[in-house]
Amino acid sequence: MSIIVVGSSAFDDIETPKGKRVRILGGSCIYFSLAASFKSKSKIVSVVGEDFPKNIFSKLNKKKILTEGLVVEKGKTFSWGGVYKTISEDPETRFTNLNVFEDFQPEIPNSYKKNNKILFLANIDPDLQNKILDGSSANKFIGLDTMNFWIASKRRSLFKAIQRVDLLTINELELKLITKKDSLERAFSDIFKKFQIKYLIVKRGSGGSMLVSRKNFHWIPSYPFVNLVDPTGAGDSFAGALFSHLSKRNSFTEKDILDGMIYGSAMSSFTIESFGTERLFKLSPKELEGRHKKLRKIARI
Ligand code: AMP
Repeated sequence: MSIIVVGSSAFDDIETPKGKRVRILGGSCIYFSLAASFKSKSKIVSVVGEDFPKNIFSKLNKKKILTEGLVVEKGKTFSWGGVYKTISEDPETRFTNLNVFEDFQPEIPNSYKKNNKILFLANIDPDLQNKILDGSSANKFIGLDTMNFWIASKRRSLFKAIQRVDLLTINELELKLITKKDSLERAFSDIFKKFQIKYLIVKRGSGGSMLVSRKNFHWIPSYPFVNLVDPTGAGDSFAGALFSHLSKRNSFTEKDILDGMIYGSAMSSFTIESFGTERLFKLSPKELEGRHKKLRKIARI
């Protein structure tokens, strides 16, 4: 089975205590699909401008990532600038230039619709997430990610989209912004009061991730032995790995999600060891499997 992923494709300017990079490849659906490529085919729906290098398409295709839905429009590619004052904190956004995303009307190509039961709405304008949901009804399992920018600017539209998915994956700050609750416990119960979702995943960086359902709570550690260089894309690559695991299993139980989260933790620990997507492009299945095994042992799974 394959995954349709809708999200941003970007040029990022990133500054962390370990250095600085300008106009490097980024975006939520790029990180997601690279991470997913080890276990599953993913099909990108996104937009870039005429300034986007053509060779990126073939680099993605080599990883079994389909790009028919990654359209090129007149104008500039989306760009984002973020600064991490300390490496463990959320970034401070310096700029968000929507550019070609301003007028983008996403469509799922017909060729993507065959043999597809999983949809992931990566971080992108909630109006576009809703548009994709309007046009796709045959999904077995749908996930959604977002960020503070959209929680602040498109709260209503975002809430409408969350109402229509199975799994919401956000970080702790985003959870507090959505629920306006300071205590985690109150935030959890508020989320399940507000939305029909089955699962909530809360990412906490080096503090691991939590899986919450109406009845249960689980905690998964992050891989402890990393040399953290740039946290960008950790969340998207975690989700890409998790959803590729679900796609391969073709099953969506709590146990499948927990196993997928360990795999996601192993994946994102590589993402953050270099700037941007560098490490994901070079990562070998053997390296990934080694760390995944170690993490399963640490987590006693
Ligand atoms: P994360 O996994 O949360 O670190 O996601 C990082 C990626 O999100 C970066 O590569 C950015 O290009 C992208 N991004 C930043 N702001 C936005 C936004 N408002 N909408 C969509 N994508 C964004």
